[in-house]
Amino acid sequence: MTRPVVHTYRAAESGLYVNSYLIEGESGVVVVDTSLLVSDIEALRARLRALKKPLLAILVTHAHPDHFNGVHGLVQDKEVPVYASAGVGRVIEEIADAKRAQWSPVYGAEWPAETYYPNSLLADGAKVQFDELSFTVHEVGPAESHADSYLVMTANGSAAIAFTGDLAFHGTHPYTADGHSSAWLAALDALGGELADTGTLYPGHGDPAGPGLLDDQRRYLLYYRELIRRLSGGEAQLSEAAKSELSTALQAFLPDAPLTWMIELGADAVAAELAAVRAASSGS
Ligand SMILES: [Zn+2]
Repeated sequence: MTRPVVHTYRAAESGLYVNSYLIEGESGVVVVDTSLLVSDIEALRARLRALKKPLLAILVTHAHPDHFNGVHGLVQDKEVPVYASAGVGRVIEEIADAKRAQWSPVYGAEWPAETYYPNSLLADGAKVQFDELSFTVHEVGPAESHADSYLVMTANGSAAIAFTGDLAFHGTHPYTADGHSSAWLAALDALGGELADTGTLYPGHGDPAGPGLLDDQRRYLLYYRELIRRLSGGEAQLSEAAKSELSTALQAFLPDAPLTWMIELGADAVAAELAAVRAASSGS
């Protein structure tokens, strides 16, 4: 019995460096997450073909297009089950058209013309098996996106590994524009316990790492929120000058990390989130 090999296709900068994982088992390949732009999706498809084993299934970790956009391209060669947690699948159906309307003008023909939706939805804790590869899906709820999940994989009795989507970015600035930073922090706290014994986490952006990755993401979000709380003065949005100050501070916090434009992208969403919590707690 050979151990499965986890291959990574990492997108170019324009594709947000998103990771797609090709898990090569004895008789076939399972793909976790599928890239954003057509050029990367085609490269991922070529990478899959080069393994010369059949595609068995695709799993999508969460409801963001850099993870689900490539499903349509991959199933052109062979239609396979496409799994997501029930919450993730539902949100993908809700947002895919709006995301295309928002981003097609920016990316042009690089944005896939069609969406292939997950066709096999899984309840929290459900397990799917492809020969020796076993995946258990864990529904998280809103965190980095409107619906997140993570997958724990075991094979042939080997130590568990986890595919954690964007619950923790590794070495890049994170996307915060969905405005669920409170829920995201709570999810990270829970995950620290749930994944404490999992050897390696495979994140959606950046290199694999141990569970300490979750602590790093937690520290980043706490700092990000603290800065926004101060710079916004309790308002639901930041001035341009405040955004610039936020960006400078976060770039000093995570030196040399790419995707710096994401810092300002999510600032107003988090300011609005914090302002809403304040309004609710003051009873106004
Ligand atoms: Zn992502």
